Amino acid sequence: MLSIANKWVLTLKVFGHGIGILLATLLTQIGGLAWIIALMFRRRLLAFLLIYVGLWSATLVVAPQFGRVPLPCHGATLRAQSLFYCATARHYVSPDLAEVAQDAADEMAQRYPGTVTLYLDANLPFWDGFPLLPHLSHDDGEKLDLAFYYTDELGAYLPGKTRSLIGYWAFEALDQHICPEKWPTLRWDFAWLQPLWAKRPLEPVRTGALVQILAADPRISKLFLEPPMAESLVLKGQKLRFQGCRAARHDDHLHVQL
Ligand SMILES: [Zn+2]
Repeated sequence: MLSIANKWVLTLKVFGHGIGILLATLLTQIGGLAWIIALMFRRRLLAFLLIYVGLWSATLVVAPQFGRVPLPCHGATLRAQSLFYCATARHYVSPDLAEVAQDAADEMAQRYPGTVTLYLDANLPFWDGFPLLPHLSHDDGEKLDLAFYYTDELGAYLPGKTRSLIGYWAFEALDQHICPEKWPTLRWDFAWLQPLWAKRPLEPVRTGALVQILAADPRISKLFLEPPMAESLVLKGQKLRFQGCRAARHDDHLHVQL
């Protein structure tokens, strides 16, 4: 018979694994399944890692049956800003969006040789309606976030580099208050984080050109960019939208959707 203390330990363990499985599923989809299978092994961490790698590789083959394909992790003109996006299987899109992104990146490299276009969060590999948190709309393979382009302090373009570690949250228009201050909102400012980012000014020519190339693509329906950025880059157009004051800011990346 289990003592009361042992029962508590067992309950806490089950609870801990439940939370772990839930978080791993929300973060990567396949992580939760890897966790469950790893529970059958004695060396669970090693088993988890090996099973995860196996599931990750199988997903490359299976996801196309669900209408999603992986973006290139380390392509010459289009690649993940960080291997984190690939390792966590957050780099899946519909075949059409993969083509749009690759075409835009190739066009950028043709206009400005040496240009590398970086993507951030895309979508998880399976099931429409399963959102890629914290982006509620990235749930159908038709949404993709792209990084801006940046320069060094002397203004020379830096291929494959962003200001922040993950490409998000280095805001360009924090001083422009275009939303009511007191609304409950997902519009994070993270003012305390800003001094930590590299001093890399935005590269306006390439960033503006990427927006124009995507806006001209008939397969694209909407692009989200913060209005002060659209103004400073002299960009206009029906597809260029403001996401509204209750959603995350878009002065640190460009949101693209079919
Ligand atoms: Zn987005």
